[in-house]
Amino acid sequence: MRRLRNVKIVATLGPASSDYPTIRALFEAGADVFRLNMSHGTHDDIRARHVIIRQVEADLGRPICILADLQGPKLRVGTFANPTGEELIEGAPFRMDLSTAPGDVNRVNLPHPEIFAALEPGSSLLVNDGKIRLTVDTCGKDFANCTVTVGGTISNRKGVNVPDVVLPLAALSEKDRDDLEFVCELGVDWLALSFVQRPEDVIEARTLARGRAAILSKIEKPAAVKAYDAILQVSDGIMVARGDLGVELPVTSVPPIQKRLVRGARAAAKPVIVATQMLESMIESPVPTRAEVSDVATAIYEGADAIMLSAESAAGKYPIEAVTTMNNVALSVEKDPTYVQIIEASRVVRRETIADGIVSAAREIAEATNIKAIACFSQTGTTASLVARERPRVPILALTPLMSTARRMALTWGLHCAITEPQDRFKGAVLAAVKVARDDGFARTEDLIVVTAGVPFNVKGTTNILRVAPCDERLIHSVDPG
Ligand code: PGA
Ligand code: MN
Repeated sequence: MRRLRNVKIVATLGPASSDYPTIRALFEAGADVFRLNMSHGTHDDIRARHVIIRQVEADLGRPICILADLQGPKLRVGTFANPTGEELIEGAPFRMDLSTAPGDVNRVNLPHPEIFAALEPGSSLLVNDGKIRLTVDTCGKDFANCTVTVGGTISNRKGVNVPDVVLPLAALSEKDRDDLEFVCELGVDWLALSFVQRPEDVIEARTLARGRAAILSKIEKPAAVKAYDAILQVSDGIMVARGDLGVELPVTSVPPIQKRLVRGARAAAKPVIVATQMLESMIESPVPTRAEVSDVATAIYEGADAIMLSAESAAGKYPIEAVTTMNNVALSVEKDPTYVQIIEASRVVRRETIADGIVSAAREIAEATNIKAIACFSQTGTTASLVARERPRVPILALTPLMSTARRMALTWGLHCAITEPQDRFKGAVLAAVKVARDDGFARTEDLIVVTAGVPFNVKGTTNILRVAPCDERLIHSVDPG
């Protein structure tokens, strides 16, 4: 089974998509990656979904990538005496403090002393997805007296965003640490970190993950946008988390930020996901709006590695239709000659290492002739990501003996991942590549493919061979009897 597109689809699982038939149908409709959102659901729910995904993977014989998304330091107000909350009027004063007394129209508890320590007069506090905006007038170590600058209803446990200050908050809460250990033991391929503020946050998570999962940083704070280069450098992947980004920053700044983050991640050969509200109306409707289709298309034209569904697949009425829509948009965009032009115009060419030279030569050779695929052997996935960075016009076969690498790479643009026997000779590797190319429908006996590998095998970072190989074993044996 092969996909006929390069961009990958991430589908979040939830109450609307938790049984075997639905998860299998989502995969068959085009989902390459399943996201387990640790902000919702119990560990038992998460474990049950994990078991089903691995069952679908075994039944269909294709590696499936699982991304566990940690909630991160999400701030919330306390509770109100009135269970339906209070109406805050523009221009009125409102106080947040550490008192646990029930809130009213004048004040509410905000149980985070660290925030009061970081606030300054003039700072903004955004409540309930940014619907309410407060500006700090005066503050101390246990209170902030604010003015309501945008009014609205505030009620129990609503979320609070503090966009303009770097909060001295641990990147991982107690719950996050507990969730991280749980999902790493369960066996997930990627961990997504919410509300990353600094590179140290990523390094901390990586230390805790101990190599069991790759680390993806969600860029959803102004501080993370500012420190993007440093965060990218220590991350394995990036998510353009447009939901919170559009709360913390003016929503009109999100498209340029999206472009910059996608370009940066592509240049670094690290996968980047564009997320949130891509097909929002499909939560309720079986067909998307024109604007949504256009938004999905834009991310694909930008060369993003993956596009993501959140509530559309987790809690909506039409999870399968949403994946099908993304798949169809991708098919339509990727066959557009303008897509090829845009991707080529935005290609990042690096000429720093031998591997850079080999992957770029592989692309040149494959594109200049009628070669059917570029096959690359990769232990850690690094070489495969370099091939993907080239954004070649021909399909990429990412071959590895390691299931964990195959699953992880399934998030990356264009990679068709497959497991092969561990190789010790280049000829064996060529034979294995040819077999995948033919079995999975990329080439026929009379075709040619390009094969890249590092010899000796099983040594990290040694890509040093490029071979144009026939897909006919007899020819391979006759030119290379050894
Ligand atoms: P969330 O992250 O869905 O976990 O909030 C994505 C976003 O903010 O866009
Ligand atoms: Mn978010």
